[in-house]
Amino acid sequence: MHDEWMRQIDLELDGELSLPERAALARHLAGCRHCAEARVNHLEMRVAFARSAGDPHARTVPRPRLRGRTLAFWMAVSLAAGGAAGWLAHQRWGGPGPASLEASRATLVVQ
Ligand SMILES: [Zn+2]
Repeated sequence: MHDEWMRQIDLELDGELSLPERAALARHLAGCRHCAEARVNHLEMRVAFARSAGDPHARTVPRPRLRGRTLAFWMAVSLAAGGAAGWLAHQRWGGPGPASLEASRATLVVQ
């Protein structure tokens, strides 16, 4: 279920979603902290990629560049952001993880 939204988040950040699809995603993010946090992490990952490419103000990151090291970067970023703990908690207990700065930031992004 969430995996499907993860894909939608990626497509949204690539600017490849139609308006109805974006609306559906926004609706889900408003009620799902898990996906909202994941979106923040995706965005921060792209910022890191843009920085490493020497273009910190890029609006998008070309897909080929993302593909290669996405997993390694995803892990590094989510660990650094403390997102892993929240994700694990979510997987294990099926509910929101421990309250954290990350969570409130994700909520801000949603609103
Ligand atoms: Zn979700």
